[in-house]
Amino acid sequence: MNNVDRLRKNGTLTRGEFKALLTDKQGEYLFAQAREVTEQNFGNKIYTRGLIEFSNYCKQNCLYCGLRCDNKKLERYRLNKEEILQCCAEGHDVDTFVLQSGEDDFYTTEKMVDIIKAIRQRFPDYTVTLSLGEKDASAYQAYYDAGARRFLLRHETIDSGHYRKLHAGKREIATRIECLRQLKRIGFQTGSGIMVGSPWQTLDNIIDDIYFLGIFKPDMLGIGPYLVSRDTPFANRENGSLELTLRLLAIFRLMHPRVLMPATTALIFIHPQGREMGFLAGANVVMHSLTPSHVREKYRLYDK
Ligand code: SAH
Ligand code: SF4
Repeated sequence: MNNVDRLRKNGTLTRGEFKALLTDKQGEYLFAQAREVTEQNFGNKIYTRGLIEFSNYCKQNCLYCGLRCDNKKLERYRLNKEEILQCCAEGHDVDTFVLQSGEDDFYTTEKMVDIIKAIRQRFPDYTVTLSLGEKDASAYQAYYDAGARRFLLRHETIDSGHYRKLHAGKREIATRIECLRQLKRIGFQTGSGIMVGSPWQTLDNIIDDIYFLGIFKPDMLGIGPYLVSRDTPFANRENGSLELTLRLLAIFRLMHPRVLMPATTALIFIHPQGREMGFLAGANVVMHSLTPSHVREKYRLYDK
């Protein structure tokens, strides 16, 4: 049996087999199998998320991200509750609103709860998804109690040394994992994931991420290429690989048949057909930006 069939049947492979699958020249069979599994589980349905990037302030300083607090070139903005509700009103054709921001303490737990409740009240048929970074368990619980049901928090890399390097020694993977555990415990549908091709990432790191996600079993998976942001210490690095990202999407589809997996925004920025390629590799979620056009350019995680 070849590695693709074995992965589909058993849900995992040896380290050597994963390495072969990630570097294999022939991807067509892998992609075809991933597509088949997607269709078996979801038919032709593509889920839509409406992304509301409501603040680009961030107290963190992740080396890879244009929103990092040391980036003084970025003009910062915040949306208030009414503006956020206005964004929601534009999202007729989406299944869920995703509220995403930097780690911005301006939005206290109380303020977030008020925003979540207002959305739930005015748009009761929509799921509220959050992507706000690391908070303490009581804040996560308050968001849940207010009606939010999904939370996206990529672990970025499970290797503690790699994680530390990407955050200049200021952050620990253990904290991230603890947040993910809390989110699951509270009852959130929890999303995690990685950037593909982030600085210093090795194939072995990626295989460790595959094994970690195999154990963690997220409900949603965000897998996108790392993209250079000129206003970061990584300005001279290279973008992650489109091909490797697509292969990983397909591998994750075979390992997690029911997972919700977007063709990420970064995938779309790295290639004009990135979205379609993502679907052909097993993605089943599309992102629509509901961020007001006058601030969209300022939510610059990477160069667009
Ligand atoms: N502050 C929150 C949410 C916003 S950032 C958090 O960090 O979780 C959302 C995601 O954007 C991050 O998880 C990271 O994986 C991704 N991201 C940041 N900078 C990026 C870059 N340069 N290229 C690709 N993805 C990036
Ligand atoms: Fe802030 Fe998230 Fe960017 Fe890190 S990745 S700097 S936490 S917005």
